[in-house]
Amino acid sequence: MTGYTMLINGEAVAGDESFDVLNPSTDKVLATCPSGSQEDLENAVAAAKGALPDWSALPIEERSACLLRMADRLEENLAALAALLSAEQGKPVEGYAGLGANFEVGGCLAWIRYTAGLTLPVEVVQDNEQARIEVHRKPVGVVGSITPWNYPLLITCWHIVPALLAGCSVVVKPSEYTPLTVLKAMHLVADLFPPGVLNVIAGPGAVGAAMAAHGGINKIVFTGSTATGKRIMEAAAGNIKRLTLELGGNDAAIVLPDVDVEEVAGKIFATSMINNGQTCAALKRLYVHDDIYDELCEALARLAASVTTGPANEAPDFGPLQNRQQFNKVCALADAAAREGAVFLSGGRPLDMPGYFFPVTIVRDIQDSSELVTTEQFGPILPVMRFTDIDDVIRRSNALELGLGGSVWSADTVRATELASRLECGTAWVNDHAAIQPDAPFGGAKESGLGVEFGVHGLLEYTQIQTVQICKC
Ligand code: NAD
Repeated sequence: MTGYTMLINGEAVAGDESFDVLNPSTDKVLATCPSGSQEDLENAVAAAKGALPDWSALPIEERSACLLRMADRLEENLAALAALLSAEQGKPVEGYAGLGANFEVGGCLAWIRYTAGLTLPVEVVQDNEQARIEVHRKPVGVVGSITPWNYPLLITCWHIVPALLAGCSVVVKPSEYTPLTVLKAMHLVADLFPPGVLNVIAGPGAVGAAMAAHGGINKIVFTGSTATGKRIMEAAAGNIKRLTLELGGNDAAIVLPDVDVEEVAGKIFATSMINNGQTCAALKRLYVHDDIYDELCEALARLAASVTTGPANEAPDFGPLQNRQQFNKVCALADAAAREGAVFLSGGRPLDMPGYFFPVTIVRDIQDSSELVTTEQFGPILPVMRFTDIDDVIRRSNALELGLGGSVWSADTVRATELASRLECGTAWVNDHAAIQPDAPFGGAKESGLGVEFGVHGLLEYTQIQTVQICKC
């Protein structure tokens, strides 16, 4: 499969160089993708800069209308986009609990349609005989969007839709592991925007690094690892770029002894294994009260035994991990935990077949100091730890530098809410985890990020305040 092109100033650009995109279910080449050069980046930034004045001058209602048409266009092509996403990312089209490729593309539509309805009203902070003082929200300028490989299309929409609504123009760089669906989708909607408003270049991390350092880009919105986020922050200093960083998570969940174990096990299983565990805000460290520890571990093990892992096109519950690097990381974490004496209730070893298949794995009797607990595993392997003292388990939950999400599970929602508020994280859930929606701000505390996405709070991140003071005396 060939024929993928970048999108620069409304034109399809083949680029001088290319790289292979692998199918994670087979470890074979799926397609060839163009690799953007420095010249391609310069052209994309120049196009975005050139398109900015007219685009930002449009009434917000007109930009909103373009975005609503974008959602319709993606919906018309949902099946084809989901099939391509499934092939390159590895997630089944349906998948466990219906959270596969169809769900990702459907999520794009929901996010676009909600976000397109937001507005940026002028705020009046004073209006009397002395002065009228207004707070205006101006677009921040050219936005560079750099995305990871776990939800390639959804995260692209999370980045570019509020940016475009606010009046910014964008240059998108998808992950080199999963560029195809983004390239296809952006070409599908390209004619809905003036040339230069929406640009996409592909390529490795070096292209992202060049964007982070580029003087013509005013803001970077980045979703990916904390290590890369730190590098972007350094590179962005040159022109004081605005930043939104959605970085790694290693979310803790605390289960109190008063829960209905069977019911909670089902929810915890789904939220820790969502997208094969390759979800930033998935539940990644499970702390269970001693009274129900054995019972909950057994319920999770039964669920793990009931699901299938296999090639994305064979309609399994879970597909492969997305890339070899991630597969090797999960294998190494499992091996280390086994050497330390942790007990595996399911899985634990890769499947003996081509592709990056690691089965759903539940690990008990594991120490907090194990790398499987201290490192974001980003795979289908859940460590389950025991606790007796609530203050101690809150301390253990807060012990890491990451702070994306956290949750408390209990029949007593008042007590659970009070405990959840003590977690050092951007989102604290009660009796749920990783649940996100277009109107609720989402972002990380500590080293899990900077700024938020979604809703009006997320939209404001693509704006610069201009205070207008009109003297009346
Ligand atoms: P990554 O940081 O390796 O890569 C992400 C993107 O950054 C890719 O497009 C890559 O090409 C680019 N990149 C690499 N080096 C760069 C540099 N020096 N400068 C600029 N760009 C560069 O992350 P990944 O492995 O693709 O994604 C997995 C990570 O993403 C996990 O840690 C996960 O938790 C995190 N993530 C976070 C969220 C969130 O919302 N907080 C969502 C999804 C994923």
